[in-house]
Amino acid sequence: MLTLTVQDAQSDMRLLFNRLAHLYLCRPARRPDCLAQSFLLALTLILGADQLLWAQQPSFPRGPGFYFSIYKLAAILLIYFIWVSLCSWVDSDSQDLKLDTFLWNPLMTTAGALGLIAVWIIPFFWLGLLAFILFFVGIGLWYANIRNQKVRYDERVLTKKHLRSLLRRYLRLNIGEGGRKGKGPRVPVRFIGRGFDQKEEDPNRVKRAQESRGYKGALEMVYEAVTTRVTDIHMEPTKEEMAVRFRVDGILNTVTPFSRHMGEAVINIFKVLSNMDITEKRKPQDGSFSAQVEERLVDFRVATAGGVAGEKMVMRILDKSQQIINLTQLGMRDKMRDQIHGLVTQPHGMLVVCGPTGAGKSTTLYACLNEIDRLQQNIITIENPVEYQLDHVTQIEVNVKAGKTFASELRSILRQDPDVIMIGEIRDQETAEIACQAAQTGHLVFSTIHANDTVTALGRLLDLGVQPFMIASALNAVLGQRLVRLLCARCKVKYKPNPELLRKANLPAEKIKFFYRPPTEEELAERNEEAKAKNKRVTDEELVCERCGNTGYFKRTGVFELLVLTDKIRDMIRENPNLNAIRQEAVKSGMRYLYEDGLRQVLEGGTSIQELLRVSK
Ligand SMILES: [Zn+2]
Repeated sequence: MLTLTVQDAQSDMRLLFNRLAHLYLCRPARRPDCLAQSFLLALTLILGADQLLWAQQPSFPRGPGFYFSIYKLAAILLIYFIWVSLCSWVDSDSQDLKLDTFLWNPLMTTAGALGLIAVWIIPFFWLGLLAFILFFVGIGLWYANIRNQKVRYDERVLTKKHLRSLLRRYLRLNIGEGGRKGKGPRVPVRFIGRGFDQKEEDPNRVKRAQESRGYKGALEMVYEAVTTRVTDIHMEPTKEEMAVRFRVDGILNTVTPFSRHMGEAVINIFKVLSNMDITEKRKPQDGSFSAQVEERLVDFRVATAGGVAGEKMVMRILDKSQQIINLTQLGMRDKMRDQIHGLVTQPHGMLVVCGPTGAGKSTTLYACLNEIDRLQQNIITIENPVEYQLDHVTQIEVNVKAGKTFASELRSILRQDPDVIMIGEIRDQETAEIACQAAQTGHLVFSTIHANDTVTALGRLLDLGVQPFMIASALNAVLGQRLVRLLCARCKVKYKPNPELLRKANLPAEKIKFFYRPPTEEELAERNEEAKAKNKRVTDEELVCERCGNTGYFKRTGVFELLVLTDKIRDMIRENPNLNAIRQEAVKSGMRYLYEDGLRQVLEGGTSIQELLRVSK
């Protein structure tokens, strides 16, 4: 009995390998770089050859020919393909997240190979199969655990939400959603009537909102926005409807509008939640509330104002559960990261980050704070608003209505013996001067300023009325930055750039083989036609790239320009600040322009030249 099982398993396996060899030879693997698949191909060929030799031997147990159990074959094929797709996912996912592919790919491959050997040698087929599953699923779970720690909540795998979406996609099941109709809201959002500056919850606000028309619409909109990386929601009335736009990766996208009637009701709900006057529809108002969305706490800053067509609303979404990213994750090259690390670990001085609104300045400041030992130093921040919560840091939020300005708060925190001070933004003379004084008297100061590039930022400080000698002795460096959108790895299209244009842009035309760009409308349409022709069951919704939503871009990265104040530049500022001369001197001492830094991303295929030109204009 026992020998029979062994024989079964062995002949099953040999047939399987033969089949696989056939499969791979006739239809080459889609990703030849995928280690798992090439390894399998090799293994299949070896074992296939072995099987042929074996079959010719007279001692072969049942003579020539094959015997196999169709159920076992189906089972092992199924598990095998699950393993291969898991390997392929780990490969692409670890590349995206910049995890160690040289660790995870061999681990996944070895685990599966060991599993196959287990199926081969363990006399009980199902036990062997179980071992196969346990091996690679174990490694897969370990990988999932590691990668989940690196991403935002909605990008994690094996969460309730992710499993539900898998079921929906593959089995067309709506578990936990369609089944709860009529038993209260099915959207996993719970509004909390509490602003950022209030400690106490105000349940009355939520109750009033719940009883209002449009409550479900508001819940659904918030849920959609929070789970699709939206940073701002705009609602603007037109004659017939209430237009809704979501800002993702810095770009506003129009989404499904509300009817005018419903849209006004939804705006009213947010006004009630933010404790605003709902009868006032013309004067600008602002307020805030929070919401529990799945397992996260999210803050919303709401601002309304009356326009010609009616009242409009802008809502900023602050997801405080987001993880702070470090300087490398911001997209800095190694040399600059080391320079910044050196600057932020100095005992005193000032680092100013500059760029237009939405260039990621505050994210960079947080990354700088993250470089500092927060337990050994007293760190105080003044922000508008607090975007991330940091442990062991005193964070103060500006509130102009209550008389808490950057300058007033800065003066009061200097009495609290800080080592490091972060000022959200320098926009007036008083703040600028106190910041410079603090930097000169033994504090390390970080701040941002609204200016297009590093040298212009110097000019802006001078324009604010700060004395040149103060800037020259307080300031250590200015970091200019922009965010470029990264091309979606699944959609990007390779093309040969025009050599004329490359030469004009001062690029080595003969060295550059390819650039990448997002797909055009026609290319998308073509791709969709192909997909439809292959699989008649796909719906239009499934043809949209789930990663980028057919925008061609997914997430952003920083491009930088770092001006370090050398002794020469300090002298120039002190004597006679001529911005052009300072710019020339800075380039001479090694500063690379923002555009040049961005070209690195273009050459590496991270972003497109059009995108770089858009942001570095
Ligand atoms: Zn895409």
